[in-house]
Amino acid sequence: MSDKQPAPGRFARVRAAQLEYNNRRAAGYREQALKLFPWLCGRCAREFDRRNLSELTVHHVDHNHDNNPGDGSNWELLCLYCHDEEHSKFEHLVRYGDTSDGARKPATHNPFAGLRAKLEAQDPGRED
Ligand SMILES: [Zn+2]
Ligand SMILES: [Zn+2]
Repeated sequence: MSDKQPAPGRFARVRAAQLEYNNRRAAGYREQALKLFPWLCGRCAREFDRRNLSELTVHHVDHNHDNNPGDGSNWELLCLYCHDEEHSKFEHLVRYGDTSDGARKPATHNPFAGLRAKLEAQDPGRED
């Protein structure tokens, strides 16, 4: 360990940035998204106003709700129905292993791993 301290103020700045980030998140990405984008569904183009705005939801394009860049690049405004649809599609991709990013692919499990060793243990002299 070095005894050199970080430049004064560095920790405070990092801390402030962290707090700001937390505050921004607490303020809600939905509010931010509604400021950034026109109030319409990105799929069916249904338009919204203050009366039915609760039916307009923020979808995370990469499905990671922790990924909330301030420029809105990971958000998409979708109506409840299209949002539902979007998630069913994603569930399907995850379940049937068709995701292109591969990040969510389940670990491959080989049910036959160790089977040969087991057979050989049972019947050491056998050859086929
Ligand atoms: Zn829609
Ligand atoms: Zn979503």
